[in-house]
This record gives sequence, C-alpha cells and structure tokens, in this order.
Amino acid sequence: KGTLYVVGTPIGNLRDISLRALEVLAAVDYIAAEHIQSAQKLLAAHAVPTAYTQLIALHQHNEVQSADKIIALLAANQTVAIIADAGTPTISDPGALLIQRVRAQRFPVIPVPGANAALCALSASGLIAPHFLFYGFLPTKSGERQRKLADLKTLYACILVFYEAPHRVLECVADMTTVFGSAREITFARELTKLFETVHSCALGDALDWLQADKNHLRGEFVLLLAPEEKPEQGEISPQAVQTLAILQKTLP
Ligand code: SAM
Repeated sequence: KGTLYVVGTPIGNLRDISLRALEVLAAVDYIAAEHIQSAQKLLAAHAVPTAYTQLIALHQHNEVQSADKIIALLAANQTVAIIADAGTPTISDPGALLIQRVRAQRFPVIPVPGANAALCALSASGLIAPHFLFYGFLPTKSGERQRKLADLKTLYACILVFYEAPHRVLECVADMTTVFGSAREITFARELTKLFETVHSCALGDALDWLQADKNHLRGEFVLLLAPEEKPEQGEISPQAVQTLAILQKTLP
C-alpha cells in the first residue's frame, strides 16, 4: 500500500542513522531528497542498495509539484521516503506541505526518527529548565530580528533555541544582547557531531569577544541557545532593569 516514510538522517557524522532508517531507505521505491547528491553520498556510505530506487528532488522551490508527483506514486501503491539534507525533515526544512497533503489523502505517514540539531545541542548544553522553545531561524534583517526576539522576552523558565547561518552569527548575537541584556547566558553549539564540534557557554556580553577570538569560532553550522530566565517576583526588578539602572548610575552625573 502507498506509504510515506519521514526519515531522520545525520547532521554531520554519517554514522548517526538508525538501523530502521537504513532498512526503510533500502526497501522503498522512491526517496524524495532535498539534495540528490547528499542523498547519494549517505546511501553510498551505508551501501544501501538503490538499484531499484529512484530519487526525487524535493526542495522549497518545487515542493508543490513534487507533492503532486508523490501523491500520484502513493496512489499507484508505491512507497516513498522523504529525507532532508541533514537531520529531521520539516524541522526548518521542507516536507510539511507534502506531509499535510499526503495525510489529507489518507495515505499512511510513518515517522522514522533520527538526528536533529536542536535536540542534539540541548542534550549537551547542561541548561536546566522545564521548557524549551524551538524558534529555528530568525529574520535576516536586524530590525525585524530584534522585534521577534522582543516577543520572546516574557517566556520565562524556557530555553530559547535558534538556528543561525555562520555569516549572521555576529549580528544576531549583537541583537540578542540589545534585547536580552549582556548578563543572559548563551550557548554556542557548533559543528555538532563533526570534527570541529564545539559547545561553548558564556554571558552575551562576552560572546562577541569569544566569536572573534579565533576565526574558526565563526565557521560551520550553529545552534544558539539562550539560558532560561526566572520570572521576576511581583515588585522585584528584572535583571535587565537592574542592568539599565547600573548603566544610568555610571553615566549620570
Ligand atoms: N532539519 C535539520 C534538523 O533536524 O536539525 C535542520 C536543517 S536547517 C536547514 C540547518 C540549520 O540547522 C543550520 O543552519 C544550523 O543552524 C543547524 N545545524 C544543522 N546541522 C548542524 C550541526 N552539525 N551543528 C550545529 N548546527 C547544525
């Protein structure tokens, strides 16, 4: 019967893939992948037999057309797996539209879990909080980014998790400092599962120095985590207000 498998793949280290994911990828008739070349590399690394498997490109620019094609395949009793370039499909990656349409047509959708950069970063961060919010990518323009960050200021007791491109990390951290204040702790989880994996925590006020201290610190892929902040007791002054007061005390005559 036509079935769609949503298969998690590695975020760097090619061995971070489940036995079940490999079995599914070997068994399906079609694999829908964001980048055909990376998919081929992954399949070759695990000697997944693909003589009878066809690869379909599915990315943000052709998701609608590819979804039509995949639904027609499912209707013809073919099995299809969707994989992202890295990690879990649909998490800051294409696929949700396809899955929504496949589910609406009542074809089975089966998740096959795998790696995810946000959860991997959280797991090694040592941050303690009852909640986390996965935000993904912030807007690329500073003004808009600061507005979105300001919307998150009252999410107390919650770790905030962002994805960011390496060439925007500096400006993003500058905006985080403007919005959350220099005392808030940030964790950089960089190049996870890869050779230059780094997990570094510091105050936002020290973060730009750390990033610029070594040109390697600005390379690769990043997850940014902001430590949780406790809700100020009623009548208590928030840490940002304390910081602003301290600055005023220094600058005012
Ligand atoms: N679907 C993926 C997942 O499940 O994590 C996310 C894909 S999103 C297009 C790519 C972003 O994920 C990168 O810009 C970076 O923020 C983060 N990312 C992916 N791989 C990573 C890694 N090995 N180390 C740190 N961050 C990573």
